[in-house]
Amino acid sequence: MRRRRKKRITAFLIIFLLAAAGGAMVLCRPMLFGGFQKQSGEHIKNTALFKVNIEKLGYVPEKNEEPVRAEETLKFESEETEVYENDMPKVMERDTVKSIAAKRVSSTEICIMWNGIPDDGDVEGGQYVIMRRGSSANVRSEKWEEIGTVEAFRKNADSGEESAYEYTFTDSLDSPDPAQYRYRIDVRTNDNVWYTGTEESMASNVLICIDPGHYKGASEASGENMYGYEEGIFTVRVGLALKGKLAEHGIDSYLTRETDNITIAGYTNAALDRGHISLRGEYAVGSNLFLSIHTNANNDNANGCDTWQQPLAINKTLVIVNQTAGQSEQMLTVANEIGKAVTAANFRLGLSPADQFERACRDSVRPWTDEYNDSLNVKGTVCCRLGTDGDYYGVLRGAADAGVPGMIVEHGYHTVEEVRRQAMTENLAMEWARADAEGITKGLGFE
Ligand SMILES: [Zn+2]
Repeated sequence: MRRRRKKRITAFLIIFLLAAAGGAMVLCRPMLFGGFQKQSGEHIKNTALFKVNIEKLGYVPEKNEEPVRAEETLKFESEETEVYENDMPKVMERDTVKSIAAKRVSSTEICIMWNGIPDDGDVEGGQYVIMRRGSSANVRSEKWEEIGTVEAFRKNADSGEESAYEYTFTDSLDSPDPAQYRYRIDVRTNDNVWYTGTEESMASNVLICIDPGHYKGASEASGENMYGYEEGIFTVRVGLALKGKLAEHGIDSYLTRETDNITIAGYTNAALDRGHISLRGEYAVGSNLFLSIHTNANNDNANGCDTWQQPLAINKTLVIVNQTAGQSEQMLTVANEIGKAVTAANFRLGLSPADQFERACRDSVRPWTDEYNDSLNVKGTVCCRLGTDGDYYGVLRGAADAGVPGMIVEHGYHTVEEVRRQAMTENLAMEWARADAEGITKGLGFE
């Protein structure tokens, strides 16, 4: 079926008045505008419309004679109006595709996938037009731009069968710098009608390696009122929740483990973490960031309190960066934003007495010490901890060896009873995941 010839359109009748030499020549011709959504991009240019219509009426303007718009050009009219062939595309909004999804392929490629709406005659023989809009600070644009086209399917001539047709298009980016985009699929029919898609998908070229710290049974937890807390179990909950939150912002991620146990290169649990722990960090090779999820602890009987009954005042957020992250302003911004967001969440949840986090820049990253870690009523901040062989922590050293900025996020102290209680009986895993995701997106300048 071809598209129906008549369309009911609430149309504005536009009368163009042209000033001709020695007098005014009036050209009357209904032009369709009303009922259309915004004319996005460059699809309709008024000057082009003028020319088309002048030519149709056999009026060829003399050189330098520009058509002009008269004062009163708009009249309202509602009627069945013919859509003329060969006009410029008419822009309308409607569902053009089903299930649009965009996904990172590499640091310079994003794949856009969608399903056609097979029973729609408008699309047959037409084109899908892939539209993109930058949504991160470094590429932000208000305008949608056309980045490519894909021919729409033709019905199987023999069987006449129609099914859900799957299409893909790969957007090749100019730069591997972290950037976030929105995608939309428009349709240009062979009847010259342009449909603006209603569905959007967000994607970026960023990949994050999430490392839920430890493994089941590795927690040092002991004592009363533990609520069954184990760091090695809780961190994987945070990590999985974080993966979901990042996906909402078009950020791709993967985990070093998604279950209670971890195996990398044939080493499992204790065999990995005692002797080969840097493999966790090396697992991040090719990604933009290695993020290790932890909860903190203090020295035995710090602050004159039982090890496991520390006061809320110890509960600051520490983000420990490796040297690769410490040398990158952008990654320090991410570290600062994560620390800020987790601190704000802890304060809101009654897990910390103050909503204060000290931002760090390249020359003010605080060296980590036991005294600082155990101290009460001090702000959380971005730290570094160096050993004799580069970064002290094996996971951060591994990430650095893989050329990846790495961070350990000590969200809060599980040696504070209220932290353990909220972790095990409330939704603290999701709260922290949300804060981590907020920090990452803000730090990257993403929506
Ligand atoms: Zn830990």
